[in-house]
Amino acid sequence: MEKYKIKNLIHKMEDEKRSTLCCLLVKNIARKPIPKTETYLKYGFVITEHECQHCPRCNHILNAGPNYQPKCCSQCGQKLNFSGTRWKEDKELGFAKRGEAYESV
Ligand SMILES: [Zn+2]
Repeated sequence: MEKYKIKNLIHKMEDEKRSTLCCLLVKNIARKPIPKTETYLKYGFVITEHECQHCPRCNHILNAGPNYQPKCCSQCGQKLNFSGTRWKEDKELGFAKRGEAYESV
């Protein structure tokens, strides 16, 4: 059992080494993602407000939603904690008029 081995190893460590290891582990503590609101054009003409979750370390956009949450950032490996994240539904703001500067997705 890999877990047992590691536990045993930590037990045998000197105090100094153990504290170094603890410092390394802190970086692996899950952090909450940062929500950001973005606007995109749905169907090419519906202005839609969409909330995206971003990595708190590298600002990489996370492929996360109410039904799927990654355990860590695919870009930098930062561990993520989605507990307490409120998932907002897309909000339709209106229809884009011809010539309006919205990028279609
Ligand atoms: Zn990241």
